[in-house]
Amino acid sequence: MATAAIVEKSGKVVIRRVGLMLSGDIDHPILDADTIVVNDGVITAVGREKDCDTSEPRRIIDCQGTAIAPGLIDSHTHPVFGDWTPRQNQLGWIESCMHGGVTTMISAGEVHLPGRPKDIVGVKALAITAQRAFDGMRAAGVGGGVKVLAGAPVIEKGMVEQDFADLAAAGVRLLGEIGLGSVKAGDEAAQMVAWARRHGIQSTIHTGGPSIPGSGLIDEHVVLEADADVIGHVNGGHTSLSYKSVCTLCEKSSRALEIVHNGNERIAILTARHAIELKCPHRVILGTDAPAGSGVQPLGMLRMIALLSSMADIPAEIVFGFATGNIARMRSLPQGLIEVGRPADFVFIDKAQHSAGTDLLDSIRLGDIPGVGMVMIDGIVRCQRSRNTPPAAEVPVIAH
Ligand SMILES: [Zn+2]
Repeated sequence: MATAAIVEKSGKVVIRRVGLMLSGDIDHPILDADTIVVNDGVITAVGREKDCDTSEPRRIIDCQGTAIAPGLIDSHTHPVFGDWTPRQNQLGWIESCMHGGVTTMISAGEVHLPGRPKDIVGVKALAITAQRAFDGMRAAGVGGGVKVLAGAPVIEKGMVEQDFADLAAAGVRLLGEIGLGSVKAGDEAAQMVAWARRHGIQSTIHTGGPSIPGSGLIDEHVVLEADADVIGHVNGGHTSLSYKSVCTLCEKSSRALEIVHNGNERIAILTARHAIELKCPHRVILGTDAPAGSGVQPLGMLRMIALLSSMADIPAEIVFGFATGNIARMRSLPQGLIEVGRPADFVFIDKAQHSAGTDLLDSIRLGDIPGVGMVMIDGIVRCQRSRNTPPAAEVPVIAH
């Protein structure tokens, strides 16, 4: 049954009576709209109901005044195979995160695979296998329909440009965190980042102290020299560089500033503030860095949103953009924005029952996690009231 639900196209879906529509775009975070029309998984109209063609839908979702946002994109995850993580030996963690509003996960390397190959042929084979397996996983009905963009090789000494060309030709689009393999020097990393970029492969670098025994320190000098597309967990994973060093990265690089849940929370807050002050909020993107030594957090992305809104004093609708539209743009993804032509990946939210906040955005500003009432991926409902968030005050209903 699960397989059929994914292979099946959504047909025409009308989402109506939206109380608050968060666009994912931090320049225009709130849309003047109460209706979205979807056809076969793609947004075809966004606006006021009277202005949209809502005729003959296969499905109607009545939001009953709840909010809708683009599905959350976790910029930094460590999947291995299927919906299993050997790090904490847990099953079903990806599906659990879907109940926390996550509709896309990006791999920063399948590093937790026991016996992970370190020889170059093995590194390439694993990346290609992981890319294929996670791409096919959704059709197999595993992982709650979450789009897991994986197959992110951890680069090792001795790789040459042809290796990156081979990976790109095989469909690999990401590098795992630079620094987790044997390439740790800035000049060596810079050469491989440039090769990767030339072949359309995006790169991320580990930033800060070692995460677990066996990984190492990557300081601001190496990060700047390597010039990867994403400054991975700029707030450490967990051990952060000094705030002064992080400021240097904010000021001397123009690359994405990735803030993660499994990092230093103080530096997370300070980095977000610093990016606002430097007028470069578009560079801020969010992730969890899970699974990790500190576990798997199905609500990690929502917790990051509540943390940064409440403690860094950034409006919640902007922080949602850090977790959606900013990632779409920094990583050239189609999903992450509510806009005609984009995939219909949504999270439906409301303030949690008994929150002290007056409404959803106020509740997040006060540090509360919102309640998820529904998650939709490619126009298909993947869950209704979340089993993991605090209960939403109001939830959407499938009216037809
Ligand atoms: Zn890392």
